[in-house]
Amino acid sequence: MRLLILGGTAEARELASVLVGAGMDVTTSLAGRVAKPRLPVGQVRIGGFGGVPGLREALKDYDAVVDATHPFALGMTANAAAACPLAHVPLLRLERPGWPADPSWHYADTHESAAELAARLGSRPFLTIGRQELARFVPALGSHPVLARVVDVPDLALPPLWELVTSRGPYTLDGELALMRRHGSDVLVTKDSGGTYTWPKMEAAASLNAAVIVVRRPPGPEGVPAVHDVPAAADWVLGL
Ligand code: NAP
Repeated sequence: MRLLILGGTAEARELASVLVGAGMDVTTSLAGRVAKPRLPVGQVRIGGFGGVPGLREALKDYDAVVDATHPFALGMTANAAAACPLAHVPLLRLERPGWPADPSWHYADTHESAAELAARLGSRPFLTIGRQELARFVPALGSHPVLARVVDVPDLALPPLWELVTSRGPYTLDGELALMRRHGSDVLVTKDSGGTYTWPKMEAAASLNAAVIVVRRPPGPEGVPAVHDVPAAADWVLGL
């Protein structure tokens, strides 16, 4: 059994670790977005496949695929859902659950609407939506003193009032409180990433009475079986 894990998440690394431990031939694929990625155990390949045709071709080397990419990695998930049936390779989606809804949070369907909402709800936004989405916040928040946290420095020329911090989770409540207090953050913007790695910022925002804006997840792929945790994904693979 040769398994391909579409990775870039903590769950993908955990799944690789469990299945390599079970003696399986596991390759994890990373997009190559992050300069120094955390590498999973097993084999690793880095870089895009070249759309659906490239992935279909690559699937000749695998017997099954687990798409464990981030809930907001729409393109890779759509490509896997299209290519796997064409290549007759079984596909499972492993997607961590979103955070349980909190009545005090504000929800946005797009990053642009989250930016407009942030401009209305606060004056010092803290953006934790990732480097690739930052440009979508500039029109509404270009003249605000924004704190933007990313893993790697973006190519984008940031507005003069914006402050960039580079770091990567997991985070602590004390660290998040210190960062938000120093900046004076009064509104936090986040994707509905779910999981525990980035949860402390939500607690910090609640404790500091900062507004919280959550960008809703895009819908998952249709017709692809899905599980929400690593043991269930490992069971699916081992049951094949
Ligand atoms: P995306 O928009 O879904 O993907 C765009 C293209 O990047 C894909 O069509 C594919 O190129 C390539 N790609 C994406 N993930 C890949 C993977 N695991 N292995 C090989 N190629 C991959 O993806 P994204 O949102 O830029 O995310 C990129 C990676 O970062 C993903 O692996 C994801 O799990 C991780 N990540 C994303 C976020 C987020 O908020 N989006 C957060 C944390 C981690 P080809 O068409 O050429 O194959």
